[in-house]
Amino acid sequence: MAYPYQHPSEVRVLSEYFGDPEARTLKGWEARGGYKALRKALGMSPADIVNEVKTSGLRGRGGAGFPTGVKWSFMPKEPTRQHYLVCNADESEPGTFKDRELIRWTPHQLIEGCLIGAYAIRATHCYIYIRGEFFEPAQILAKAIEEAYAAGYAGKDVMGSGQELHVTLHLGAGAYICGEETAMMNSIEGRRGEPRVKPPFPAVAGVFGKPTTINNVETLCSVTHIVNNGGEWYRQWGTEKSTGTKLFCVSGHVRRPGNYEVPMGFNFREFIHDICGGPHEGREVRAVIPGGSSVPMMSADDLDVGMDYEAFVSVGTMLGAGSVIVMDDTADIVKQVRRMVEFYAHESCGQCSQCREGTAWATKILRRIERGGGTEADLTTLVDISNNMAGKTICVLSDAAAAPILSSIGKFRGDYQARFQLEEKLMPARRA
Ligand code: SF4
Repeated sequence: MAYPYQHPSEVRVLSEYFGDPEARTLKGWEARGGYKALRKALGMSPADIVNEVKTSGLRGRGGAGFPTGVKWSFMPKEPTRQHYLVCNADESEPGTFKDRELIRWTPHQLIEGCLIGAYAIRATHCYIYIRGEFFEPAQILAKAIEEAYAAGYAGKDVMGSGQELHVTLHLGAGAYICGEETAMMNSIEGRRGEPRVKPPFPAVAGVFGKPTTINNVETLCSVTHIVNNGGEWYRQWGTEKSTGTKLFCVSGHVRRPGNYEVPMGFNFREFIHDICGGPHEGREVRAVIPGGSSVPMMSADDLDVGMDYEAFVSVGTMLGAGSVIVMDDTADIVKQVRRMVEFYAHESCGQCSQCREGTAWATKILRRIERGGGTEADLTTLVDISNNMAGKTICVLSDAAAAPILSSIGKFRGDYQARFQLEEKLMPARRA
């Protein structure tokens, strides 16, 4: 069986060599066409690479979905200062486990994308920021970087082109918030990992105050294929505005959880019921979080939707990082929401009062409801707190905590109310 299971409906561009240990080595990667894209890129001007990526329509795979070529074009055209590329390999969103697999199986795919990306934005240095807990992927990546330097794919004179390109692996210490781009830059600089107020934006003043672009692992891996095959080739998959293929990591109540690569716009119901095997015997899908715990929950009624940025927005949620969490009819929705909000309360850096106080307050109320001691007024308070947390803070952690609260109360209010009834049954004396 392919790694760990391959469905015929998948289109494996990024994940073609998952499960193939030979692809991990430099020799193996070269034998599979590796570093051809870098050679081609060095023969192009940085502006031509940016245009090719713009043509492809590639959008950032870390969650925001911003067009990559457009983001690159924000960097100064004539560098008078050092530029930096930062690859975000923090992958901290609960439910996400695709970037670590790209690194584990195809580290050179990422290094090649980093080198091309750095060249395109006129940077000579790329930091790959990986979370410290990813010990095995970090070791694999460190070895691959050494191999790339030894073979002349990185260093002072890349492939004899006269172009200088360096890659540095930087291990974080495991804070969720360091996946946010400005907190990540602080962490690289050795400061406390907390988000910065924007503006200035990273393209103006990023790492060490220099122009910086931050791209996700999957985004930079995609760049390798776009440079090799052209932007139009990439557009053969997906929709007009959401192009190419995308890795989705699936966890929860399905028969075949795992990583699957499908064209953008693939039908979500078919994805869950066919590719992922659907729910277990005798169970039904009840709720799905399509993009990691920070995006709104969907109910099973909304699953007939394309897996792309626009379609998910049209049903009130987001594609996010493509981390699909499926809950069947045995899932305790209140408990799951409490766990998510508790996580965000723990990971809040504490700079903004709406986030610091809001996540802690919401956690307390959710714990009380879960115990059976909630009231209808608690739901009103939770909605009020959440509305005051979203869109009002330095970064979006606060919005992330509000999303599961608001969407679950909107779609699964009865689950909360059933807990109130529980209290009345179990503790009549206290009610009286
Ligand atoms: Fe920190 Fe939360 Fe404010 Fe983000 S929203 S900067 S995590 S306090």
